[in-house]
Amino acid sequence: MKYDIIIIGAGPAGLSFARSLGETSLNVLVVDRASLSVLQSPPEDGREIALTHFSLASMKAAGAWQQLAVNDVSPICAAKVLDGNSRYTLDFNNENTDLDALGYLVPNDKIRKAYYEVVAGLANVELLTDTTVAEVGSDAHHAWVQLTNGERLECDLLVSADSRFSGTRRQMGLPVSIKDFSRTAIVCRMEHTESHHQTAFECFHYGRTVAILPMTGNLSSIVVTVSSKDAEKVFNMSAEAFAADIEQRLQGQLGSMKLYGDRHLYPLVATHANQFVSQRFALIGDAAVGMHPVTAHGFNLGLRSQESLTKEIKEALSRGMDIGSNRVLQRYQRRHMRLTRPLYMGTNIVVGLFTNDHVVAKAARKATLRVANNFAPLKRAITRKLTEKRVARPFFLPGFK
Ligand SMILES: Cc1cc2nc3c(=O)[nH]c(=O)nc-3n(C[C@H](O)[C@H](O)[C@H](O)COP(=O)(O)OP(=O)(O)OC[C@H]3O[C@@H](n4cnc5c(N)ncnc54)[C@H](O)[C@@H]3O)c2cc1C
Repeated sequence: MKYDIIIIGAGPAGLSFARSLGETSLNVLVVDRASLSVLQSPPEDGREIALTHFSLASMKAAGAWQQLAVNDVSPICAAKVLDGNSRYTLDFNNENTDLDALGYLVPNDKIRKAYYEVVAGLANVELLTDTTVAEVGSDAHHAWVQLTNGERLECDLLVSADSRFSGTRRQMGLPVSIKDFSRTAIVCRMEHTESHHQTAFECFHYGRTVAILPMTGNLSSIVVTVSSKDAEKVFNMSAEAFAADIEQRLQGQLGSMKLYGDRHLYPLVATHANQFVSQRFALIGDAAVGMHPVTAHGFNLGLRSQESLTKEIKEALSRGMDIGSNRVLQRYQRRHMRLTRPLYMGTNIVVGLFTNDHVVAKAARKATLRVANNFAPLKRAITRKLTEKRVARPFFLPGFK
């Protein structure tokens, strides 16, 4: 079988890319090992995705935003960063902007479902589920995938969106920088008696960080980050003990708290491929860059990657060029690398600073919060970058998680 493009992975990055290729002359296949029923109705996974205005615009253009129910979207109108036990906060809000929010919180499973809905209706995109890619390869003329069922498929361009631990990236020989933080995020939803006033909190307590993200009503997403050696212990606390611990850490700001649904564990490992392309092959989404969630960049960058690659492909099509040519792929790599490298490094520096409990680091972070709070042009610039629809230059977005 021969396709123009094969996409490995029907996660949010792979599906959004497939959507962008809809209504082109290209014959596209998306392969995923997950079942069709999982793609149609993904399970809740505890990830609540903070979306930028750029991502909002991208999801609207794709028709995916329109698939979300009103209750799936919660605006984030303010963000506060706290350090240690101090009540001093670094504050951001949308007051001096013409926008209704700094960003929007949407559950990951709802994003996945929304993209499935818009891709399922595309005439030029085929979805192959329950199918695992065993091997991939390429030469000057075509790329191929070997499926575990023995079938071999060929294409002009192979695109991997198979997660930050991408097996196909390794098979294609693309090296990757990996940062294992030896920390684990425990994520869950909690009900509370006091309103969150659509405010996100990032509390860098010593030894443990707690992020609170406002969902609809008196519901919040809680992200507790602990050393990986303590993760099982915290994860296995009784629901009551866990709730009491969070309530006390938040100094009762959200009133009485109660666990709502399951807790989920995510070991924190960040990855950045040193190359995003090779012969007739490209990486998008987490397979290209898997970020630490503290700066809430992951899927936002995933959308940027697929949009950049789509732009190059459409330009190549309009000029009658080969969509898998080195020239086309190098242009994508240059553009996406320029955007992601500084964000990846900046995020890792922030994580290092705010999870290091050495006395010097503690002093540095206190100073950082005060400088950022009191230097109006810097704060304005950060807020502008948080809310702009198109990010012209890379910039570090401060803590949502
Ligand atoms: C706790 C947490 C909070 C987060 N918060 C945010 C946030 O606020 N904002 C934000 O922008 N991002 C956030 N992220 C990041 C975001 O969730 C990811 O960036 C995004 O889900 C990655 O999507 P993806 O499609 O690249 O990969 P995945 O979602 O990992 O999808 C990969 C797909 O590939 C398939 N696959 C893998 N290997 C194969 C194979 N060999 N054959 C066939 N199929 C295969 C898998 O089945 C899967 O469907 C968060 C992440 C975590 C863990």
